[in-house]
Amino acid sequence: MEADHEGGATAERDDTEDEGTTADAAATPDAAASAGGSSAGSAASVGALDAAPSGATIAGVYSSGLCMQCGTCAALCNQGAITMRWDVREGLEPVVSPAACNECGTCLEVCPGPGLDFTDDAWWRERNEGAPSADFLGPWRRLAFGWAADADVRYQGASGGVATAIMQGALAAGRIDAALVCRMDPENALATEPVIARTAEEISACRGSKYNVAATNVLLRRVIEEPGRYALIGLPCHIQGLRLAQRHHPLLRKRIVLAIGLFCGWTGLPQLAAVAARRAGLSPRELASVSYRGPDWPGVMRLETHSGDSRVLPYPDYYDDLMFGYVPTRCRLCPDALADLADISVGDAWLDRFDGTPGVSDLIARTEAGVAMLEELSPDALVLEEARPGDMVASQKEAYVQKRLIYRGRRWLRQLAGRAVPQYPGVPGVVTTADRLHGARDLARQVFYKTIGDLRYP
Ligand SMILES: Cc1cc2nc3c(=O)[nH]c(=O)nc-3n(C[C@H](O)[C@H](O)[C@H](O)COP(=O)(O)OP(=O)(O)OC[C@H]3O[C@@H](n4cnc5c(N)ncnc54)[C@H](O)[C@@H]3O)c2cc1C
Ligand code: SF4
Ligand code: SF4
Ligand code: SF4
Repeated sequence: MEADHEGGATAERDDTEDEGTTADAAATPDAAASAGGSSAGSAASVGALDAAPSGATIAGVYSSGLCMQCGTCAALCNQGAITMRWDVREGLEPVVSPAACNECGTCLEVCPGPGLDFTDDAWWRERNEGAPSADFLGPWRRLAFGWAADADVRYQGASGGVATAIMQGALAAGRIDAALVCRMDPENALATEPVIARTAEEISACRGSKYNVAATNVLLRRVIEEPGRYALIGLPCHIQGLRLAQRHHPLLRKRIVLAIGLFCGWTGLPQLAAVAARRAGLSPRELASVSYRGPDWPGVMRLETHSGDSRVLPYPDYYDDLMFGYVPTRCRLCPDALADLADISVGDAWLDRFDGTPGVSDLIARTEAGVAMLEELSPDALVLEEARPGDMVASQKEAYVQKRLIYRGRRWLRQLAGRAVPQYPGVPGVVTTADRLHGARDLARQVFYKTIGDLRYP
């Protein structure tokens, strides 16, 4: 999948330009994070939120349930002390080797797990200076509904194929040398695999939404080591990790020139596809491939075995009850629905007027880099229709319930139980009775569907 790449002139420029130091990226102290633990990797500050209890560790972030499985810590560890361990039930766990760790604390500085500052004064908002901003929608400079101008890219994509079209367009225009994307692992149909795509064909091979955990940010290590200009596409937690990593590492600021964020209600654990397979009468061990969505819109889930047996499950029908049972609990404590820290955020335009089309995406250009990219690619690569903030929010009713009502309700329940919760200053936190009911109903659904799923489809 990956082509050779030497970086050339870009490499020279990258490595010599002064992008500042980690010191100039001093964090805005916000609130104490609740992660603690006792293994390697101790440091006095945690991710976006300073003043964490001393002794906080990556193992503590994970064991306290705050890890978002993004892979940033593994990439930024200079000692190569962190590996992401895969498990069908738990997803991805960052594991620190005590023998290799020198306790520098970098992994914790770049970890979005304990929370992030969402106030208007947050350090990352400098990219959005002068842009309007609203709760849930985040900061924006341009709002649009759109789709890939190429009919096949549109048809094959998760919604309007805009993510693929933007990366391919940026590559063709010479704005990037490669894109950090993710595909399903050819060796393990239940796992994702982050890859660096250097051609339009390699970008196409990764299209479609994977409702599965993905440690895309482990690729940031390759970006540090291999000069060039890159785009990164990921979920909101990946973009958070990317921005923290860029704050820490000057080369990442220079080399990642475009961050495309996917809207995200929640993602799934690998077990979701295993249970879907069993429910459809297939053995997960026999699975050769899992496609969660597409082609067409909204698309279907396709499961195929090595012996050629296949099943098709309609989306979003399969998704709803499986998702309730097999979503990481951390996703239920995550308020970033629309990838506020991205240059361009993209999602499904869930509006009645787009029913029956081959797919339409929401697009939010949040930074000048994002606006410039849309202007450069439209209309040849992207067809865009201007949108209003109200329409954009209306297209995300489900995500709003998940990322505001259920988020506040689950957070409240977790605090009642004395468990660690991530800190998100700037996200409205007043808990209403409706939030509590949403939280309780979501917890009941999670337990119910997981219990049924585990019993009937072990
Ligand atoms: C877990 C998940 C939850 C989502 N939740 C919502 C939601 O609540 N509301 C909404 O409107 N949209 C949601 N989306 C986004 C939506 O499903 C589409 O991905 C988005 O509209 C882009 O469509 P496209 O046709 O432009 O993308 P495509 O052109 O098909 O490209 C998709 C790109 O996304 C990348 N990608 C796919 N899965 C992952 C992953 N798990 N982690 C990192 N990168 C990935 C691929 O590398 C690919 O390059 C979600 C996506 C995912 C993966
Ligand atoms: S060496 Fe530094 S970055 Fe790596 S695990 Fe240890 S504390 Fe974390
Ligand atoms: S950086 Fe990402 S993978 Fe590592 S501990 Fe933090 S949230 Fe988890
Ligand atoms: S809800 Fe989405 S953005 Fe939030 S932690 Fe889960 S996968 Fe990441």
